[in-house]
Amino acid sequence: MSAVRPIPKALTIAGVDPSGGAGVLADVKAMSALGAYACGVIAALTAQNTQGVTGVQPVDPAFVAQQIDTLFADVPADAVKIGMLGSRPVTEVVGERLAHWKPPHVVLDPVMIAKSGDALLARDAIGALREALMPQVTMITPNLPEAGVLLEQRPVETVKEMRRVAERLREQLAHTGQRWVFLKGGHLPGDMAIDLLHDGDRMIELAAPRIDTRNTHGTGCTLSAALAALLPQAQDVPEAARRAKHYLTEAIRHADRLGVGSGNGPVHH
Ligand code: PLP
Repeated sequence: MSAVRPIPKALTIAGVDPSGGAGVLADVKAMSALGAYACGVIAALTAQNTQGVTGVQPVDPAFVAQQIDTLFADVPADAVKIGMLGSRPVTEVVGERLAHWKPPHVVLDPVMIAKSGDALLARDAIGALREALMPQVTMITPNLPEAGVLLEQRPVETVKEMRRVAERLREQLAHTGQRWVFLKGGHLPGDMAIDLLHDGDRMIELAAPRIDTRNTHGTGCTLSAALAALLPQAQDVPEAARRAKHYLTEAIRHADRLGVGSGNGPVHH
């Protein structure tokens, strides 16, 4: 009989996009493709398709806490990815439960606005994101507009300015243990999509060719889910980050093959 080698368990705490392009469903696809066992706690519901979001329904924060506590009591995650939380009370309760369970890796994707322009986080939740969640995470993965909101400054326009943003975000994370900023530069113009990985010491540039497609729905979700799947499996954080970016680049490269929906379609897992 062969010995049981436990599979790494990755948990997404996020919203549901019924079209499967973003949110929990996309996270589960990415985590499964990358060799992790995927679990999901539902933090918000949306009605949406590839054209946009027609409605958002919050989940009772006490029930979000119950999902997390019930899961961790039996199936503790090796890594957690946090995506769309929707409201301030849910943001606060997720911070509280993570402080209790202390999973080894927590990747925070500070989801605020969908590519369609629809709001996915209540305005009054931004303070809770900073105060209740940022102290609990080991990595934060903002894009440039989200970084601008977190730092209360205009979104930057050059890679040089991005370096300063990565440093300032790192200062906002807890100073104990390994904490990383994965700053996504996809909003900058240019032939390359450049991201920065920073731990307060190393500043690592991750570059990939920009792919010309409108089918980029769920790219942020996919990246943070890939990180949660890979962090428990990789030698170190930079290796997990490189592999996650590679996974996302290939998922975007093959997105046009899917032909799902008539708007901004999903990427190909
Ligand atoms: N819906 C849900 C539930 C999400 O979590 C997200 C992003 O994180 C989106 C929609 C938006 O995805 P995108 O901005 O890539 O279209």
